[in-house]
Amino acid sequence: MAEKTTTKKKTRAPATRKTSVKKKEKKKFDVSFYHAWCKACGICMAFCPQKIIKADKNGKPEILGMDKCVGCRFCEIHCPDFAITVSDRKPKRRQNDV
Ligand code: SF4
Ligand code: SF4
Repeated sequence: MAEKTTTKKKTRAPATRKTSVKKKEKKKFDVSFYHAWCKACGICMAFCPQKIIKADKNGKPEILGMDKCVGCRFCEIHCPDFAITVSDRKPKRRQNDV
């Protein structure tokens, strides 16, 4: 009597393990200008790799799109009059924090 052989096909269990990948929040920066010291030379506007520093009607710098700043500090380093401060933006602690 011949023995019946059953060949069970092995199937791989689907990958169900969830990986908790936390999305890393992009670091943000604040750039401030001390206009009293600024002589409107335009160096900061020329050096900004993001091209977010533009001249206002007096030729003095202003930021358009602060969130695009990458914090390279080129503007701060190259300003001959030390009129720029770049700082890390602190995360808000509460919803109503300013
Ligand atoms: S820190 Fe860099 S990206 Fe930000 S405003 Fe200055 S030059 Fe532009
Ligand atoms: S580099 Fe300094 S002095 Fe020149 S425009 Fe910018 S802030 Fe003003």
